[in-house]
Amino acid sequence: MVKCVIEKREERDRNQVSNLGFGDPFLCLPGLPKDPTQMANEPRSTASSAVGGGMTVDECDSMIQRSLRTPMVKFLKEHLEKSGCNIGSNFIKAVHCDKKVSGGYVRGEGIVVCSNHLKIQDEVNQVVIHELIHAYDDCRAATLDWSDCAHHACSEIRAGHLTGDCHYKRELLRGFVKIRGHEQDCVRRRVLKSVTANPYCSEAAAKDAMEAVWDVCYNDTKPFDRAP
Ligand SMILES: [Zn+2]
Repeated sequence: MVKCVIEKREERDRNQVSNLGFGDPFLCLPGLPKDPTQMANEPRSTASSAVGGGMTVDECDSMIQRSLRTPMVKFLKEHLEKSGCNIGSNFIKAVHCDKKVSGGYVRGEGIVVCSNHLKIQDEVNQVVIHELIHAYDDCRAATLDWSDCAHHACSEIRAGHLTGDCHYKRELLRGFVKIRGHEQDCVRRRVLKSVTANPYCSEAAAKDAMEAVWDVCYNDTKPFDRAP
């Protein structure tokens, strides 16, 4: 039985890398790059990629380079390396994204940051940190299965909590002004969006999975001692 599942998964890993992506409508992508290699090879020009209010791929690449020098990104990179996952210089790429997401992580491919949906350095930093948490989870847990809604939910809870995606100031900018409990509400909202976008998880399954793993995963702050 178990063997069968494993074989099925390997088959999928080979054939449909795209489904291993996962998403936050605003932060990740549920298999966004239908074919990540193709996506990365899209023309790197320019004016057209900024249509819709974002920036060009080149502008975004410069911001990614800048984010690599921030303490939190450096810290996560170091811990990925300590866990045996080296990040090459090409691991994080700016790309133009058709779907309305800000970035994503695909096992074996790396991180993409959607230039056309981001405008400022802080947003790029957030996406890079969020996706690095997913990469870290993927690295440290050999058994992590992105098609398992609970596994996916756990990584989204951690990413949402640890990146400061839901910092009060950012929530205000989004027009959410409830004060009490806002941080956890915000993380929940974003986890649900992401996990629901996983082709393997219905809305009900996403909600059940999130509730089931919430306490454990919200309190799992590795590689940080506590939520930054
Ligand atoms: Zn995510």
